[in-house]
Amino acid sequence: MSTIARLLPLALLAAAAPPAEAARADDGLSPAFFETLRTADLRMATIAYRLTTANAALCDQLQPQLGMPIHALTQYGPAARGRAAVAFGFASTVGVEAVVANGPADRAGVRANDSIAAINDVAQPPLPDSTTPEGAAARDAAEAVIVRSPLERPVRLTILRGGRRLSIMVKPVTGCRSRFEILLGSGLGATADGAIVQIGERFFDGYTDEEIAVVVSHELAHNILRHRERLDAAKINRGLLAELGRNGRLIRETEDQADLLGIYLLANAGYDPMAAPRFWRQKGGNIDGGLFRSRTHASSKARADVLEAAAREIAATPTRPIIPPVLATRDVPLR
Ligand SMILES: [Zn+2]
Repeated sequence: MSTIARLLPLALLAAAAPPAEAARADDGLSPAFFETLRTADLRMATIAYRLTTANAALCDQLQPQLGMPIHALTQYGPAARGRAAVAFGFASTVGVEAVVANGPADRAGVRANDSIAAINDVAQPPLPDSTTPEGAAARDAAEAVIVRSPLERPVRLTILRGGRRLSIMVKPVTGCRSRFEILLGSGLGATADGAIVQIGERFFDGYTDEEIAVVVSHELAHNILRHRERLDAAKINRGLLAELGRNGRLIRETEDQADLLGIYLLANAGYDPMAAPRFWRQKGGNIDGGLFRSRTHASSKARADVLEAAAREIAATPTRPIIPPVLATRDVPLR
């Protein structure tokens, strides 16, 4: 999550917390609030871990995946920092927010609320003081050390836990290189800028993991196919003129490709490929008119029909991962 995201009131997620707990702190920053945040981040991280590792063969940019969302105490505003430190057990600036069940960090014995003193012997900052600037820089720097770590080589974590200092070697799984964030307060939005996939907070309140995976896989497909970069190279306007003429045609083309590659990503990660057409039929209508505007994205009904045919074919193919032909469009200029 971004810095700003951490500071927002998280109205919807807070509303999902048990009322008795939520009522305890008058500003909403109760222990239940932080656990709600952790739960949403873990759901996102688990979906991202499955999709990126199962589809490594489809990605030309890779990184070691540890299955371990990390955060920094400096991401929380001054008013929330003391309570965030208690809720997440920070003993240094960077901490493990959660571990993906049966992922590399979990298998190595890393636990939620472990604090990170060093990664591959690169020291991480101690607890911040009042002069430490607020922001996500510490989290980003820690993530960068993991991304730079050689593929398949164990990552050494120096962990602070309960006053003890532990050295834990985590054997990573290679996955697609991408960051994932929950976008707060934005409704049912989702974007992919080439490096980060962002999914609106509201998906984590009322949508199943499988439904969220449909949206995440579509956005990850945009990044794998380098759509942002290729649309920029084609000088495509994604703003007010996005629906007109050549802009509209090429944006629509990239949307159709992301839809198609998205179901392969789902299937390769062990999700039911039929989840995509089901999602667009049942809930896509809620999203059309918001993020997935009907003209630049095919209407949800038309989208579901096309995807259903593809999903049937994928479901009948036993091999995983499937490397689909649409992947070859990655190197073709849009014109
Ligand atoms: Zn899209």
